[in-house]
Amino acid sequence: MSYDPDNIFARILRDEISSDRVYEDDEFIAFRDIAPQAPVHIVLIPRGEPPVSPTGLTDGDAGWAGRMLVVASRIAASEGLTAGGYRLVMNSGANAGQAVEHLHMHLLGGGLLGPVA
Ligand code: AMP
Repeated sequence: MSYDPDNIFARILRDEISSDRVYEDDEFIAFRDIAPQAPVHIVLIPRGEPPVSPTGLTDGDAGWAGRMLVVASRIAASEGLTAGGYRLVMNSGANAGQAVEHLHMHLLGGGLLGPVA
């Protein structure tokens, strides 16, 4: 699937749509989800035009993908979620209900979460 440069997250990256940013660096930004599914619900995305989902990632993606996980852990700590725990989720495709086709990671926490599935 090709990348749509007008997807919602691309527009957030370009500040065409406002967002409540909680983190940014050279590679990633993170912002609060507009429809939170937990007391803390943050979306972490790579800058640029990443793959639309985790599907098809290769060994060549290991560097930035690994750093994305490290950033998620850092944000969780800054949000005070380390002690209580949290969940990281990446949806891929229709069966997972993926709505935005710009690879992203959900960070959920701040309270007791339901079962994963
Ligand atoms: P997914 O279902 O994994 O594609 O997740 C997309 C997420 O983006 C959903 O949790 C939406 O609530 C969230 N979302 C959509 N539009 C916005 C927006 N303008 N600002 C923040 N989050 C958004």
